Amino acid sequence: MKIKAILGGAILFSVFGVNSVLAGPHWTHEEQAEWGAIEDTSQSVVPHMFPFATCAIGKHQSPVDLAEHSQILKINRLSIKYRKDFPVFYNSGHGIQVNTSLEYQGKLKIGREDYPLIQFHFHEPSEHVINGETFPAELHFVHVRDDGKLAVLGVLIEVGEENETFQTILDNMPHEEGERNEGTGIQINPLSLLPHNRRDKYSLAGSLTTPPCSEGVEWYVLAEPISVSSDQLDRLISFYSDNARYPQDLNGRIVSTPR
Ligand SMILES: [Zn+2]
Repeated sequence: MKIKAILGGAILFSVFGVNSVLAGPHWTHEEQAEWGAIEDTSQSVVPHMFPFATCAIGKHQSPVDLAEHSQILKINRLSIKYRKDFPVFYNSGHGIQVNTSLEYQGKLKIGREDYPLIQFHFHEPSEHVINGETFPAELHFVHVRDDGKLAVLGVLIEVGEENETFQTILDNMPHEEGERNEGTGIQINPLSLLPHNRRDKYSLAGSLTTPPCSEGVEWYVLAEPISVSSDQLDRLISFYSDNARYPQDLNGRIVSTPR
């Protein structure tokens, strides 16, 4: 899977919050209202000077309120084909993240297209809301097709029963920004971070929820949340809190809803 390795690396670098010179200017969730205006001082030509402009001027931004303008629509058949992996536990500087191994075969199948799973990460509180209701946290499974097209599967998280796999992730996550914990020999099955009901879901065309807020991302959010314990939520918050983007305008988009 050479292509996946290259794409995965590039996307992890430039998009999912590696805090480095190559990743563009520094940003934080606190200043999200100003993302579009953040300047790359190493550049002198517009639009390169404003690498995150899409965050401000994009019309298909994520996240959104999933109930605001929704309809029951026929959507592509989705089949979640995750399997076990020996992943890398990665503290991205913007959240806690699990990167799948290079030889990982798990994927999301949308219609007939394969979207390999490259990483998943957590936001606190949730980014998507339903009728104005925010959930305690949200999990994003990020998939990238060989041509670079992205699909994200979101899972809302509520407080209740403990989740064993989430505990393993918390216990192995490095505390320093930018640090990776690899070669642990610890196996994770991403399926154990999904609810029983994987059929009912919301869907819409959206964007990355972090700079550069690139559009053309196919979004699916499962209707049934998973649960973690309140101790586990506290542990998540001890890594990152308020690392969520606020809901964005639908700008005429319709969310396809499960019921
Ligand atoms: Zn995310």
